[in-house]
Amino acid sequence: MNEVLKQPVTVIRGIGEETAKLLEELHIFTVEDLLLYLPFRYDDNRIRDLAEVDHDERVTVEGVIVSLPTIQYYGRKKSRLTVKVMVERYVITAVFFNQPYLKNKLKMNTEITLNGKWHRYRQQITVQQFKIGHDNQPHNDFSPVYSVKGNITVNSIRKFISAAFDQFGHELEEILPAFLIQQYRLYPRKEAIRAMHFPKDVQDLKQGRRRLVYEEFLQFQLKIQALRKFQRENSEGVLIRYDNEKLKSFISNLPFPLTNAQKRVLAEILIDLKSPYRMNRLLQGDVGSGKTIVAAISLYAAVTAGFQGALMVPTEILAEQHADSLMGLFEPFNVEVALLTGSTKKKERTAILEGLQAGRIPIIIGTHALIQEDVNFAKLGLVITDEQHRFGVEQRRILREKGENPNTLFMTATPIPRTLAITAFGEMDVSIIDEMPAGRKEIKTYWAKPNNFEQVLQMMEKELQAGRQAYVICPLIEESEKLDVQNAIDVYHQLVHYFGTRFQVGLMHGRLHTDEKEQVMKEFSENKIQVLVSTTVVEVGVNVPNATVMVIYDAERFGLAQLHQLRGRVGRGKHQSYCILLADPKTEVGKERMRIMTETNDGFVLSERDLELRGPGDFFGKKQSGMPEFKVADMVHDYRALETARQDAEKFIHSKEFWEDEEFKYLRNMIIQSGVLDGEKLD
Ligand code: ADP
Ligand code: MG
Repeated sequence: MNEVLKQPVTVIRGIGEETAKLLEELHIFTVEDLLLYLPFRYDDNRIRDLAEVDHDERVTVEGVIVSLPTIQYYGRKKSRLTVKVMVERYVITAVFFNQPYLKNKLKMNTEITLNGKWHRYRQQITVQQFKIGHDNQPHNDFSPVYSVKGNITVNSIRKFISAAFDQFGHELEEILPAFLIQQYRLYPRKEAIRAMHFPKDVQDLKQGRRRLVYEEFLQFQLKIQALRKFQRENSEGVLIRYDNEKLKSFISNLPFPLTNAQKRVLAEILIDLKSPYRMNRLLQGDVGSGKTIVAAISLYAAVTAGFQGALMVPTEILAEQHADSLMGLFEPFNVEVALLTGSTKKKERTAILEGLQAGRIPIIIGTHALIQEDVNFAKLGLVITDEQHRFGVEQRRILREKGENPNTLFMTATPIPRTLAITAFGEMDVSIIDEMPAGRKEIKTYWAKPNNFEQVLQMMEKELQAGRQAYVICPLIEESEKLDVQNAIDVYHQLVHYFGTRFQVGLMHGRLHTDEKEQVMKEFSENKIQVLVSTTVVEVGVNVPNATVMVIYDAERFGLAQLHQLRGRVGRGKHQSYCILLADPKTEVGKERMRIMTETNDGFVLSERDLELRGPGDFFGKKQSGMPEFKVADMVHDYRALETARQDAEKFIHSKEFWEDEEFKYLRNMIIQSGVLDGEKLD
């Protein structure tokens, strides 16, 4: 890049050693650092009609002083001066703190321009800046606000940036090829950075930002796509020559025909398996879309080629359930399925470990227990992770490394919005099941106030009498598992009392022993228990198709994704199902969540809405998200630009021009310097 811009900030007029020291605290060392130190927001200086201004908003107004100032002193050196100002047709109060000397300056009938926070109810403005007279010359509509520290003020940094720009702005070089600038009518890089610091008006600012957003997304996507290309070309994956005939007979033996979506994703997976690349694929499908069967068929494919397959799930309940259903599917084909969890007895565990190491056990299902050090495989060819968002990146890596580059498939029922998926999992291939098995009815969702519980019980009773079953999810107290359990026990007693001998009520919570949990789950799935009172432990994956009622206490405390997961426990069979949200949300966001739940059953729609309400950080949970941070761009609001950048990046990476032509030089170097071509993971 441009050497001139790599010089220390002291080459800028007006910046000496002392200022340079202060700037270091903001991680600004070079001229370029300073030029690229972008504002995090803008103050709006446009003169506004007060009727449009929200409470607490910062605003600029012009008016005429219509009273004498009055002043109150309090404490030492503290004072509050007020004066009435006529702004158009309103008379408002202007408040100045700790500037008693203004008393003689603010004269009746003089024009004044005020900037400060608007207190809507008191019709008063707390003045932060003011000017005697009106602003007749053109002024900037927006002033940039920078994050600052120590002795650097926003005003001083503005001054430094302005000086830097005058002296070195022309050195900012274009990094995008000219045809892109033309195609998207983008500001040149220098113009864009100028507009961010010194916007002429809204339009100018928007254009500057638009250009930088695209640039940022494009660079990110180029790195991710390069990494993906690299991984494909360099991964000696295991090649699985599965037996097509056996696979066909397995599929035709299923109790139902596959949906078209299941067939499609299965084909995508099978192509990966028999290619020499290592599969690295994310399988998304809404709750109940039938991912398990796709996993089972894929595992079987590996087995027919003489490989072992592993399925890792986040909870023991789920592991047991999967093991159960897979054992049923595989029995006619003489394929052994083993189950390994934290509560597998020692003797059995030893036998399983031996079986895996010797290659005798073809399919293993388990929890975290699968990634313990002493678990070794003879010939692991496929690793599937169910409910992948429940696992950390690290755990997934450990399991993957248990074989020699086994193919990996991640399944998730948290429908990750496409925008996030292509960003966070950009180096994976994505398969989507976007179709429900035939005959499913929409789950009817209602939002009820907790004091209508009596009515909820009555509707439950009706369903139970028709032979169906129900879940009741208990209030959740985040800090205390003990209180959660107590709540569950209370609700349990209440329901036992209500249903008497007519129906059996069961209780499930995290404090139960594994075999107790297993027992309750078994009784529920065999319909020996009709009502299951539970904490959120049944959230993921549990499958009892005869259950048609899901009642969720304190629904406002859950995120949309989690509510959707819980709701997904019903509506899994052919009967009409119901979800009742018991909630009395106090916030607008809380109410909005309830409304969205009642309006849509579509997990993808829901997750997009959830993302809007919460933002991407929250959506994944801060730490494990691995979501990249962008300086200018916002994944939610700029998702169109993200999609465009992704498509462009994909095209470039696979083109000859990108790796050879002069106009791609900068972007190419950026990729090389990032290290992804050496297989380094993005940070
Ligand atoms: P999820 O995608 O949430 O993991 P499951 O794999 O648990 O969903 O499937 C939900 C239910 O749908 C199960 O009872 C399963 O047997 C059933 N199912 C799966 N595929 C089909 C299909 N093609 N036709 C009918 N039912 C299906
Ligand atoms: Mg599942």
